[in-house]
Amino acid sequence: MTEVLNQLFIGGAWVDAADGATMPVDDPATGEILCHVADAGPKDARLAEEAAVQAQQDWARTAPRARSEILRRAYELILERTDELAHLMTSEMGKPLAEARGEVAYAAEFFRWFSEEAVRIDGGCGTLPDGRNRMLLSRRPVGPCLLITPWNFPLAMGTRKIGPAIAAGCTMILKPAPQTPLSSLALAGILKEAGLPDGVLSVVTTSRAGEVCEPLLRGGRIRKLSFTGSTGVGRVLLAQCADTVVRTSMELGGNAPFIVFDDADLDVAVDGAMVAKMRNMGEACTAANRFFVHRSVADEFGRRLAERMGALVVGPGTRDGVDVGPLIDRTGRGKVEELVADAVERGAQVLVGGRTPEGPGCFYPPTVLTDVSPESRLMDTEIFGPVAAILTFDDEDEALRRANDTPWGLVGYVFTEGLDRGLRVSERLEVGMVGLNTGLVSNPAAPFGGVKQSGLGREGGRVGIEEFLEYQYVAVPVR
Ligand code: NAP
Repeated sequence: MTEVLNQLFIGGAWVDAADGATMPVDDPATGEILCHVADAGPKDARLAEEAAVQAQQDWARTAPRARSEILRRAYELILERTDELAHLMTSEMGKPLAEARGEVAYAAEFFRWFSEEAVRIDGGCGTLPDGRNRMLLSRRPVGPCLLITPWNFPLAMGTRKIGPAIAAGCTMILKPAPQTPLSSLALAGILKEAGLPDGVLSVVTTSRAGEVCEPLLRGGRIRKLSFTGSTGVGRVLLAQCADTVVRTSMELGGNAPFIVFDDADLDVAVDGAMVAKMRNMGEACTAANRFFVHRSVADEFGRRLAERMGALVVGPGTRDGVDVGPLIDRTGRGKVEELVADAVERGAQVLVGGRTPEGPGCFYPPTVLTDVSPESRLMDTEIFGPVAAILTFDDEDEALRRANDTPWGLVGYVFTEGLDRGLRVSERLEVGMVGLNTGLVSNPAAPFGGVKQSGLGREGGRVGIEEFLEYQYVAVPVR
């Protein structure tokens, strides 16, 4: 990568913030400042908006094949640069290098998937019921988009939005999280190299999210917001979108139940738990937050899970052999500490972990809690850390009632050897996605998203591009 990655990317050019402001990017493994990047303000946002609006018409008219090939080239460039991108991501976000490499591959897949979808945008032609009128149906890009991403998957949350937006023919402004701007800036460089025309994508890094985004959402020229982040911020943005009726996609928080029935294969369930809990150090919207385990197998499940969790190596993500990197920052770690302290105060037993290590960096050990009270705060708060909280249940109805007793509904995990039970429970879970005997649901070819307060719309899969397309219908009477 040749860019310095400390400037904004606006209208195809690398520029400083108009007021010259910069902001620090921290290394969560040391707590030290890694570098400074441009800190955009409202003036920069207006320039990015202007670039997106100016580029929209021509971009919408490009051949789908041309858009597809840009995505395909970008997919290949990302894979060629896996190591560089993984190091960049680990340095700003903390995840171990092996996981960062995994995310690079996952992120690239969204570009490959949507390069294939770009040339499959369909339309239609039909005769209306009166037999006289014809209907021509076409699809068109929704228009300039604002894409807002979180820090936990710095590359993949970007490609999951940029991929379908490019495929559909939308222009866009990406505002990444301030903790992890570098991966997004690197992605902008790759897309430019892959041939993306100037103005189609701008990247504004900022510590002033509200000042930068609100005027865009209220200004009437941005036609779509695609947001991934917490439910609280999602609510604020939905309200801002209401005035100018901006179309929205909302990928919000989770509170995933992980249900282990008495007929589950415990080896499979523990393997699944390790993925569902420990992927990204537990800092994932899909992270298992509440473990409901049948009373007859709860002790054995807890023992095996604690053994596996206790064997994980905690340390800086760049070090060989490390399984668990630091949490994103001191605030994130403080929240995990408070949730564990609250659970312990209410009677939870700590099977492993539970104690913050001395020293620099935002490390927290893999932790397993049993006998967790349903009143504990971590039952209705995203833990966003490596803490598995185990409760027991006696029958299927009780497990379902408690699993569904939450305003969130992103994903649920079910472990049982009974196909009938597996399907029945999956159907009754109030979630957008279910892992049935697996702890991993994310896949670019599958529709990712939640119900209830976990969001609106889907990303990835065949439907991912729909979020960036409108229908237009032309009525043609035939005499
Ligand atoms: P967050 O605090 O909601 O922030 C997400 C993004 O929104 C950041 O870029 C943030 O920038 C920005 N933001 C905050 N307030 C804003 C405002 N008023 N106007 C415009 N932008 C604003 O979430 P996070 O801590 O980064 O990420 C963790 C959350 O994301 C968790 O709840 C997790 O479940 C969720 N998540 C969901 C999915 C999914 O697909 N459903 C995937 C990943 C993560 P600032 O930090 O500068 O405010």
